Amino acid sequence: MSENIISTKNLRKIYQSLSIKTSALNNISLNIEKGDFTAIMGPSGCGKSTLLNILGLLDSPTSGEYYFLGNDVSKQNEGLRSKLRKGKIGFIFQNFNLIESLNVYENIELPLMYLKVISRERKKKVINILKYMNIENLAKRYPYQISGGEQQRVSLSRAIIFEPQLILADEPTGNLDNKNSKNIMELLSKFNGEGRTIVLVTHDPECSKYCRNVINILDGSIVH
Ligand code: ADP
Ligand code: MG
Repeated sequence: MSENIISTKNLRKIYQSLSIKTSALNNISLNIEKGDFTAIMGPSGCGKSTLLNILGLLDSPTSGEYYFLGNDVSKQNEGLRSKLRKGKIGFIFQNFNLIESLNVYENIELPLMYLKVISRERKKKVINILKYMNIENLAKRYPYQISGGEQQRVSLSRAIIFEPQLILADEPTGNLDNKNSKNIMELLSKFNGEGRTIVLVTHDPECSKYCRNVINILDGSIVH
């Protein structure tokens, strides 16, 4: 039987700053099941990041329903959302978002520290993932000492090391050249082949072609 990871109904998001209201999402209804590899596609400013941030429990909708792993999360405050996403969602962003003062090994280990995994287990997991991602030689380097493609591989390693139920990627290839972009998409595709559930935000058809489902967004609405 299929297992629902995400289910939304009529999600809306209105940003209000001073007297300006921006309607970023209108009536977004979607389902994402375990093992799906879904692209959220659309031009700049159409609401992709807003949607991904809500799906990732980093933000809440203005109205509508959102069930994450069966929990009603649409009205949860930041404290509860943070508890629910802890250890369950791995994020990757366009700008890599590595911690500059930590080396590659320490960046990858960080989520395991937050999750209070014991030292021996942490070491085993980090060494395994460095091997799996073919970046063992980078372990002691700092983010400024490696290329963009390498930084994104580290960021991917950090997103999957704690075996999250969901991986959310917001334009992960946006700062990469074609070769590195292809490499990141192939890795995501491989993770999905191993059963991981992934939602990718992109405006690039070269990236969305790796995905099994594509949801097109225009001006905050799904295009059917
Ligand atoms: P995309 O990721 O598709 O480029 P976004 O989700 O970032 O689009 O933005 C959708 C719309 O919401 C845009 O019009 C943007 O200007 C607006 N927006 C995004 N974030 C905020 C915010 N924090 N406050 C006000 N408006 C915002
Ligand atoms: Mg965006």
